[in-house]
Amino acid sequence: MIKKIWATLALFILLACPASCADLPCRTDTINTAEGGLTVGFLGHASLLMVFGGKNIYIDPCGQFFDYSKMPKADLILITHEHKDHFDLETIESILTGKTLVVLTESCALQYKEGLVMRNDEVKTIMGLKIEAVPAYNIVHKRPSGFPFHLKGLGNGYIITFGEKRVYVAGDTENIPEMADLGEIDVAFLPVNLPFTMTVDMAADAVKAIKPRIFYPYHLGETNTAELVEVLKPLSGTEVRLRDMK
Ligand code: ZN
Ligand code: ZN
Repeated sequence: MIKKIWATLALFILLACPASCADLPCRTDTINTAEGGLTVGFLGHASLLMVFGGKNIYIDPCGQFFDYSKMPKADLILITHEHKDHFDLETIESILTGKTLVVLTESCALQYKEGLVMRNDEVKTIMGLKIEAVPAYNIVHKRPSGFPFHLKGLGNGYIITFGEKRVYVAGDTENIPEMADLGEIDVAFLPVNLPFTMTVDMAADAVKAIKPRIFYPYHLGETNTAELVEVLKPLSGTEVRLRDMK
């Protein structure tokens, strides 16, 4: 009898819980949209999982920061650029099914030929989701050779529309002028670490330009997150959510 009650209870929990809240071995947040919940999984540094409408969408999955052996396979993978902390072929291959689509940049496509290349400012509808590739580059921070860490035109940020919510994953970038023209952004993931991306003040400037409802600082490295939260305090229209994204 007790067994039967447990079985009924387990079935009830299973039915009450959509695929998006399946037992993921990572910290998750759920963001409501008009077309159901968007579950965001935080996989360290710049790696994210987004589960929406039963589809698993990974962004820059990288085995250096998380163990993917217990993660679900990917329907769609978006890669922002070719640096090793974003483009990790071994991890990509570990979450592929025969049907996974990998969206990437031209320089990544040199190493993974089966992918779909998107260039800055291209827009595509993939698996029913509007995906916009937007610029991501350095203006100020450069290598000792004088070459920017991220050259304009090479890397992508992505804006993915889930239901009516627009989610911006910036990739490795500084506070570039294009950010003022992204339109309404509900959720923004912006990188804050030296020397590769933004200082705390640059990130505050980017948040001022983008005005997201929710800001997740990511790609944090050794950034002082308390200082970041302090600098962002006056921007009361944006909720800052700190997660473990070193
Ligand atoms: Zn990079
Ligand atoms: Zn990076």
